[in-house]
Amino acid sequence: MRALILVDIQNDFCPGGALAVRDGDAVVSPANRLMDACEVIVATQDWHPRDHGSFADNHPGRKPFELAELAGLAQVLWPAHCVQGTPGADFHPALDRARIQRVFPKGTDPAVDSYSGFFDNGRRRSTGLGEWLRERGVDEVVLAGLATDYCVKATALDALASGFRTTVVADACRAVDLNPGDGERALTEMRAAGCVIATVAGIAHIQEGAMTTVPRDRRSENP
Ligand SMILES: [Zn+2]
Repeated sequence: MRALILVDIQNDFCPGGALAVRDGDAVVSPANRLMDACEVIVATQDWHPRDHGSFADNHPGRKPFELAELAGLAQVLWPAHCVQGTPGADFHPALDRARIQRVFPKGTDPAVDSYSGFFDNGRRRSTGLGEWLRERGVDEVVLAGLATDYCVKATALDALASGFRTTVVADACRAVDLNPGDGERALTEMRAAGCVIATVAGIAHIQEGAMTTVPRDRRSENP
């Protein structure tokens, strides 16, 4: 069974947001389209307390995008973003929220960041996503969202390491690109690790092909 994992499609990562990814809102329409190709649909949501250790303004004298340390790990300091209960933490309004079966919050512990939707960056705590998917018989995941070079990459690599066949839909993701080319390098890294890098059209085509092989009179038995 195939699950769509929508990674952090939130206002703060879209144009006008606190940590806007260029063209971030361009992932919304493809994300909605991919919902038709997957039986299970989940979303991750960056969901930080105001005192989160990844925020530059919680480190006196430090500026956004500088490198620091958090939980013993290298940490990019970000502008405050996706603070719990604020509009910036909400999903983009055009995302078809009603079809999302379960939301997995991440980054809730102020002492450690969480790029992956599966585990915090120190891999000390699981969000429950992997267990939840396995309980439902999911063996394949398709990823779309923000951002390619951080949370999409971390989620894809953890999905793979957790035993899921993993496809990243490149044109349904956008990168922060702090350094030019980070997004492309992230895709290369994910492919090298064993992820399939696909396009929205490719996924939709696979789905249409699969549908045509199912006799029409049998479809009702396999909703
Ligand atoms: Zn965050």
